[in-house]
Amino acid sequence: MKAKRMDSSEVFTLKIRIALGGMCIFLVLLIIASAWTIPFLFESSSILYKFGIEKTFLRTGKVLGVTLAVLVFFQILLVSRLKFLDRIFSLNRIVTFHRMTGIAIAFLALLHPVLIIAAENFTLFPFEKRYWPEFLGVGVLIFILVIVTTANWRLMFNIAYDKWLRFHRLVTLAAIALMTTHILFVSETFKSGLPHTLVLVAAGINLMLISRLWLRRFFPGKMRFVVSNVEPAGKDAYSVNVRSHSGRILEHIPGQFVFITPVSASVPKEEHPFTISSTPSRPDALQFVIRSLGDWTSNINRLKAGETVFIDGPYGLFSHMISSKSDPIIMIAGGIGITPMLSMLRYMADVDDPRQILLIWSNKTKEHIVFPEEFKNLKCRLQNFNIIHIITHDSGGENDIGRLDQTKLEKMLNGWSRKSDVFVCGPFEMMKDMTRAVKKIGFSSARVYKEEFKL
Ligand SMILES: Cc1cc2nc3c(=O)[nH]c(=O)nc-3n(C[C@H](O)[C@H](O)[C@H](O)COP(=O)(O)OP(=O)(O)OC[C@H]3O[C@@H](n4cnc5c(N)ncnc54)[C@H](O)[C@@H]3O)c2cc1C
Repeated sequence: MKAKRMDSSEVFTLKIRIALGGMCIFLVLLIIASAWTIPFLFESSSILYKFGIEKTFLRTGKVLGVTLAVLVFFQILLVSRLKFLDRIFSLNRIVTFHRMTGIAIAFLALLHPVLIIAAENFTLFPFEKRYWPEFLGVGVLIFILVIVTTANWRLMFNIAYDKWLRFHRLVTLAAIALMTTHILFVSETFKSGLPHTLVLVAAGINLMLISRLWLRRFFPGKMRFVVSNVEPAGKDAYSVNVRSHSGRILEHIPGQFVFITPVSASVPKEEHPFTISSTPSRPDALQFVIRSLGDWTSNINRLKAGETVFIDGPYGLFSHMISSKSDPIIMIAGGIGITPMLSMLRYMADVDDPRQILLIWSNKTKEHIVFPEEFKNLKCRLQNFNIIHIITHDSGGENDIGRLDQTKLEKMLNGWSRKSDVFVCGPFEMMKDMTRAVKKIGFSSARVYKEEFKL
């Protein structure tokens, strides 16, 4: 079969990404700055009775309140998997940003009532019916704190990802409904006119986006695939091969990932992210290499040929297609973190990429190495490709033994141009150590690309 070569114009160059990213950030800042004018342009009567520091407290409290509301609006937009944003920032980075913005929102949510109460000389609102919008605000604050705490410290509470995600979306929906009601009724500013309309439009858009995320659970994407086979691929790992149901090809670049949702008699219908380990140069079938590490993945070998898998994607920018076109490539993979590199290597072999490539691949044991024969074969197919295997937990004959550290890495990279593109993917600790090490060794941080298998 003739290999399909990707058109590199399908990928935004770094310059275009910086320009578009800058425009997006500018637009967000402009919207936030415009929102700040609302408490000034549409003053409520409460501000007329405040003077001096109390007026400043009230105004600042209101400005923080509108900032918080705008950030909540963008939070939903960020996790709506908008393809345009993914092509500029990559979904992984967007999700990290979403989590950080959540923490900023929690701080604003705590400060906002403190300043409003400070404007009342720190006198708490009496527990009377007419202050219900203010008490609703306290409810919103509690919801926000619960959302942010469980999102950032989920593992401390021992909550499984899928359960947490359902909870997160449900509580967010409730928080947005409460927040919208709070805004519309707490101050005259938002009771009519443009501010009122803006709040309703923003809430409507958010509701639509959240419903879209919910519906995805029941109608998981348009791309329907059928499982061709599931085969063992190294210790605790399986290769899942799928074909499009309609013959429609999934356009992707090597190294990208998708969300897969199986409809199977034996694997729960949950959506999980996996890298496409096959190459876009052979687009008729897709392959995923999945290591059984948890509740859901330990069932993956029970997926049967003929069963359906829905696919949403592709996402991500962890690919040699977005880096330089000719500089050497260094890949550092830990365990199953090899999958994006595998896709890139398969693609580069198919298109006879002449670049110098070094793969440093750390595995627990020799048995954990997936497709060992294919990697040997890739060494023959690629003109300038070398592999260094690291085995951390047992003796591996010709392989290097023990954990990869800066000293070992420095030796391995001796003679490699500091202008190489470095790709790192693997367990969190290893990625942290390796990215720090390559930067210390002298590689530019702008050329170090990371992919964490965690959203
Ligand atoms: C971009 C990306 C690419 C990935 N590529 C591969 C790959 O090629 N091969 C491979 O074996 N693994 C890959 N993973 C990891 C894989 O998604 C997780 O191992 C799997 O979802 C764990 O599910 P579990 O229920 O078996 O494990 P658990 O023990 O329940 O979860 C382990 C961790 O995986 C994450 N996780 C669990 N469920 C989900 C979910 N539904 N959505 C998002 N994250 C979740 C959470 O951080 C959780 O703490 C990738 C992950 C990401 C983010």
